[in-house]
Amino acid sequence: VSSPPLTVGIVGGGQLGRMLALAGIPLGVRCVCVEPADVAPAAVAADVIRADYGDHAALGELARRCDVVTVELEHVDVDALGWLSERLTVHPAPQIVATVQDRLLEKQALRRAGVATATFAEPSACPTGYPGGTVVKRRLGGFDGRGQLRYDGSADALAAADELGGPCIVEEVVPFDRELSIVAARSVDGSVACYPVVENRHVDGILRETIAPAVAADQATAEELVRNLLSSWGYVGTIGVELFEVDGALLANEVAPRVHNSGHWTIEGSATSQFEQHVRAICGLPLGDVSTVGPSGMVNLLGGWPDPASVLALPHAHLHLYGKAPRPQRKVGHVTVVAPTVGQRDTTMAAVRVLMDVRRSSSSEDAVSAPPCPGGC
Ligand code: AMP
Repeated sequence: VSSPPLTVGIVGGGQLGRMLALAGIPLGVRCVCVEPADVAPAAVAADVIRADYGDHAALGELARRCDVVTVELEHVDVDALGWLSERLTVHPAPQIVATVQDRLLEKQALRRAGVATATFAEPSACPTGYPGGTVVKRRLGGFDGRGQLRYDGSADALAAADELGGPCIVEEVVPFDRELSIVAARSVDGSVACYPVVENRHVDGILRETIAPAVAADQATAEELVRNLLSSWGYVGTIGVELFEVDGALLANEVAPRVHNSGHWTIEGSATSQFEQHVRAICGLPLGDVSTVGPSGMVNLLGGWPDPASVLALPHAHLHLYGKAPRPQRKVGHVTVVAPTVGQRDTTMAAVRVLMDVRRSSSSEDAVSAPPCPGGC
């Protein structure tokens, strides 16, 4: 865009906006978020305009105050992004956000870019699903495994789509060995930097832990896949691509057109975090070094947080609380672990797991002692 000082507008003011804004501060980049919720985790580091994502007065203010606009979530009003893009630069492009909002368009676009995915079809074209196993998903609005029904074999896809409501996609179940992801960034000048492939462990469809780097993953193939995607989409910014590893092959499942939960470890585990990288990319600044500091991991704090002092007493552990009120399964923070050895990383991750188990068994959600919450809980 130009040289700092710059102002970045962010549609969304949650924890991703907060970590983006925090990453921008040392670079001389300020952030302004649009966020309708009363509590905006980004408020500790950014100005927040309290308004709906599609509110034209708020978007007009964003356009006046900012040099470039980005998103911290994909389920935003694409027309609003289009309106903004007529006034200033928006990265990633509104058309890309519109594509990934819709699981059918997303998978079609992945295939067009030469990226392998699970076999899929519209329900009318595949009414009995797939004999090897069937997943029926809502095309719009589903995340963290919500809005989908799974069957061990064939299924009545039309009835499943009726039950889910709204347009759906039918996918073949992939008998994957592991779930992986790759986070990468592409700058305005087309240069690309890829982080190591990581392994993601989910519980109930929600990311619980990330191991970075993933053991024996095919980094070269994952990088080629994400590079193809970034260049064929003309993408600018950080992207997260969720992958299934099956018999060593990689299939893309989902694309996040933004910084990704599986890249949070980069805050301490990489020379340049995914958040700083996104700020650099969208502002037209050079991309940063993505060398890793050491074996890393990330544990999401879901539903509440363990005693902060106990986490901070663990070697190699870094605590991140988002200033959000605890609620069942809600992402309220994460712990990053960056250790000199894999063994030390694993020991600390196990200790964090134990602290979370202690929290779950010893306290009801509202009995958790609240840490200072500058954003307001
Ligand atoms: P999604 O909302 O597409 O990210 O799906 C949530 C989770 O459901 C994924 O992380 C996988 O564990 C599982 N899943 C989704 N699609 C498939 C598929 N086609 N085959 C096997 N598992 C799937």
